[in-house]
Amino acid sequence: MISLQNRLALTYALFISIALGVLTLVVNRFTGIIFSDLIKENIAEKSGEIVRSIGEQYNSMNRSFDALTVEAMGMYFVHEGYIVTVEDERGGIVWDARSCDMEQCAEVINSIAGRMEHQFRLQGSLQKQQFPLMRQGLRVGNITIETWGPFFYSETETQFLTSINRLLIMAGIVFILLSIVISALLSRTIARPILKAKEAARQIAKMYAKGNNHNKHIIRIHEGYKTRELAELSRSINELAGQLEEGERRQKQLSSDIAHELRTPLTCLQGNIEAMIDGVWQPGRERLISCHEEIIRLTRLVQDLNTLTNLEWHDIILNKTDFDLSKLLQTVAEQFKAAVHEKGIAMRLNLRPSPISADYDRLKQVFINILSNAVKYTDKGSITITVERGVKNWAVSVADTGIGIPENEIPHIFERLYRSDKSRNRSTGGAGIGLTIAAAITAAHEGTITAENSGNGSIFRVEL
Ligand code: ADP
Repeated sequence: MISLQNRLALTYALFISIALGVLTLVVNRFTGIIFSDLIKENIAEKSGEIVRSIGEQYNSMNRSFDALTVEAMGMYFVHEGYIVTVEDERGGIVWDARSCDMEQCAEVINSIAGRMEHQFRLQGSLQKQQFPLMRQGLRVGNITIETWGPFFYSETETQFLTSINRLLIMAGIVFILLSIVISALLSRTIARPILKAKEAARQIAKMYAKGNNHNKHIIRIHEGYKTRELAELSRSINELAGQLEEGERRQKQLSSDIAHELRTPLTCLQGNIEAMIDGVWQPGRERLISCHEEIIRLTRLVQDLNTLTNLEWHDIILNKTDFDLSKLLQTVAEQFKAAVHEKGIAMRLNLRPSPISADYDRLKQVFINILSNAVKYTDKGSITITVERGVKNWAVSVADTGIGIPENEIPHIFERLYRSDKSRNRSTGGAGIGLTIAAAITAAHEGTITAENSGNGSIFRVEL
């Protein structure tokens, strides 16, 4: 498989070479066209000059041409590619290049034809033009000029054109080579960060491969690229690495938390039972009730963990029915009536008819968890449950006048086994799973659950 770097380099180089090649051809073609037009004009001008200068050799006094000068001029014109024949007014030949030097004429014309046909791939033939020779407004003869046509380049012009073409081709080659070098550099700049990202992804995969418990170290790649996509790619890789590390950390934390949560009641049970076996304690009713409470606590913990695992690892299948949310809240509030009464706090309900289609039992679980916390963490004042129109449908808020939650801990309270104050008296209850379960169920209902500090307590808000 071709590498990205090579592919990019090839594509760039190919593209630039084609563009430069086409540009060179177009420039070449245009210079050719412009130059040939210029040459045609030059030839016409030259012919006019020949006619004028030969005409000037006519002597009106003795009504004849200066034969010697005409010959000298004629031979000069032959060298330049113009075969001239001069006639007097009666049609008598004054000078004829061919009769004068047939060989020279043929040589000049052949060399022009060879140049034009081979070098410039231009087919042509000898073209004849006749002009009257005038002197003081009178016609004194005729001149015939033969040239290779439609046009021809002199040797100097040929050299000039060849140099231009050579220069163009050389510039083309230099630019193509330059473009190949630039393409290679450019593609390296683009491909390198991608290769680094690939390498980092591979390392991450290896590090978190099943069964690899060693060699865990922090992987981060450079993010400050000027190209947006490359910067985003590196950021995503770093985010992925960060999340995996965080996941790993949480998993470890979770295992140790679970172990800790299990150890406390188990140690207590073990101590009690051993003391009873050793006869230190009599297995009286009180001791047995204490053991029983620890067992209940253990069972609740295992049940909660089980519920949470089910919610987090399996698709939650909601058993939706139509019911009134306020009625459900009333039922839940009823369950806490005794506890609230016992603690001497008030329970206020601001309910209203609120039809909803949801999983009754699961939603009940959400509000039981929230309300049990409210009761647990409130020692005086009140708990107020309010139902109102929410962003999507209904919003339920449970406000208490309890101990509140420290602002910096709010983002964590929905995490598994998180308890806002680790040193808090364990008698206040749970293992930090209740809110995690509530959040999972709310999310399954495409709702949200948030917590905030009201100043003198906490408010939990469930949007459904
Ligand atoms: P727990 O079973 O420990 O109450 P939760 O997941 O229900 O576990 O709650 C997580 C933590 O959030 C609790 O340990 C407690 O510190 C805090 N919390 C929850 N509800 C309240 C509340 N109404 N007032 C104060 N703190 C609360």
